[in-house]
Amino acid sequence: MSELLVKNGFVYDPVNNIDGEKLDVAIRDGKIVEKTRRPKILDASGMVVMPGGVDIHSHIVGSKVNSGRLLRPEDHYKDMEVKTPLTRSGVGYSIPSTFTTGYRYSRMGWTTVMDPAMAPLKAKHTHEELNDTPMLDKGAYPLLGSNWFILEYLRAKEYEECAAYIAWMMRATKGYAVKLVNPGGLEAWGFGRNVRDIDDPVPNFDITPREIVQGLCRVNRMLNLPHTIHVHANNLGKPGNYVAALETMKSVAGQADEGHPVLHLTHCQFSAFAGRDWRTFRSGAEEIAEYVNKHDHVTPNRSKFP
Ligand SMILES: [Zn+2]
Repeated sequence: MSELLVKNGFVYDPVNNIDGEKLDVAIRDGKIVEKTRRPKILDASGMVVMPGGVDIHSHIVGSKVNSGRLLRPEDHYKDMEVKTPLTRSGVGYSIPSTFTTGYRYSRMGWTTVMDPAMAPLKAKHTHEELNDTPMLDKGAYPLLGSNWFILEYLRAKEYEECAAYIAWMMRATKGYAVKLVNPGGLEAWGFGRNVRDIDDPVPNFDITPREIVQGLCRVNRMLNLPHTIHVHANNLGKPGNYVAALETMKSVAGQADEGHPVLHLTHCQFSAFAGRDWRTFRSGAEEIAEYVNKHDHVTPNRSKFP
């Protein structure tokens, strides 16, 4: 039995309506309890005590960040973590090394970080890097939005088969959630092309991004996975892309029941641009507010935008 008493901190716990009160928190075997008998005391005087932050989308590991590290050798002198009796050395700046990632997240109050883009063929390496990242709970989402098997299953409307394949994939890659990046467009990139909008067919596959998003949303619910599909929408970062983002959300509105979320839209800000081209490029805030006020399905049971 391990016991800990965190004393005299300013406690924040929104679920229990505790808003900065000076309280002691008793912990036994990793769980908060009413009383402890002979706890180890941790003096938190003058400090904030709060639940650990959960970051569900941060590119901290895997082949893509290693390519980034190779391109940024200057990080090694720009931002160094020096070894101490308790911690190892490392580097930061653009893409921190594993130990530095763990230390810096911990200092900011985070306890869980999920990497949202694991290439299935690089899963082993991704997990090796996660294992090397200290002090955090971690996981990763395999990239499945342009997978050939999945595109073929969805085109043929073979949802059971698609679910079986994704179940196998989750086990094989030790994945946590289904990730879609530019659904269908990633496949098109392989041939130097892209998809224009969510109804533009994927070259050689006769399936649209809309059908991929809807199909994977359906399969995700069949499998009852712990997280919704995690979607980086089409046309990310481009002028006028707010339409693709809203259409992507709208495409699965019919699958939302009892207010349960069915889709997580990532990097919203980069999916919220208006304008026809780079000269007229601007924030799409006004257009989005207008659209949301007209279409209840985007934010069911929520108050309207101002
Ligand atoms: Zn991302």
